[in-house]
Amino acid sequence: MTKLDPNPRSPHADADPQYRHLFPAPLFFPAPQPGALALTGCMALAVVPDGPLSETSPDGELPEGLCPDCVAVMRGGEPPARPVTTCRVCSERTRHGGLCALCRQDAHETWWPVRADVVLSASDIELEGGDVLLQELAVGDRIEIEKQIGPVAPGLWVVTAVESEDSSRVRVRRLSREEIEALRGSACAQTSE
Ligand SMILES: [Zn+2]
Ligand SMILES: [Zn+2]
Repeated sequence: MTKLDPNPRSPHADADPQYRHLFPAPLFFPAPQPGALALTGCMALAVVPDGPLSETSPDGELPEGLCPDCVAVMRGGEPPARPVTTCRVCSERTRHGGLCALCRQDAHETWWPVRADVVLSASDIELEGGDVLLQELAVGDRIEIEKQIGPVAPGLWVVTAVESEDSSRVRVRRLSREEIEALRGSACAQTSE
C-alpha cells in the first residue's frame, strides 16, 4: 500500500503536520490550487500538495498516511470540534487558534513564494556521521556547510523543521548575509564583555 507524505509544510498551517489531509472540493467550486493554504476535511488549514489527489474514494482502499479525521469526514462523519478563539490580527472569531483562516492565508501567500528552504536528507550528507548529525538536529540549530552537498550550497543554514519521525530528513533555510552578520555581531559583543 502506498504511504502518502504529509502536506507541504507552512508555518501558517494549523492542520496536524504528521498527516496528509484531504480537501473536499464541493461541486461547482474550483479545485484547491497546489501551494495554497486550504481548508481540509478536518476543518483545519493545510498546504495543497502538487499532483492529483485521486486514488482516494470513500469505498476504496486508502493509502497510508491520511488524516483519520479527514477520512471520517469523507465517509460522512463530523469533523472534530475546535475551540472558538479570537484572531489576534483582525479580531474575528475563529476556530484556527491565534490567527483566523483568512489571516493565515494572507500570511501564507506572502511567505510561500519566498520560502527558500530545502529538504536535506541523510543520504545528502557525506560528512562523518551525517545521519547521526541529522538525528540530533532540532528546529533552530545551525549547520555550517563547507562544500556543496545535495541541494545545499556552502554557507550557514538553519533547521526550520524536522521532516520525518526518524529525523532522516530535515528542512533547512540558508541564512542571509544580514542574519550571519547579526550573529557575528552578537558573538563578538559577548566575547568582548
Ligand atoms: Zn485532516
Ligand atoms: Zn484574522
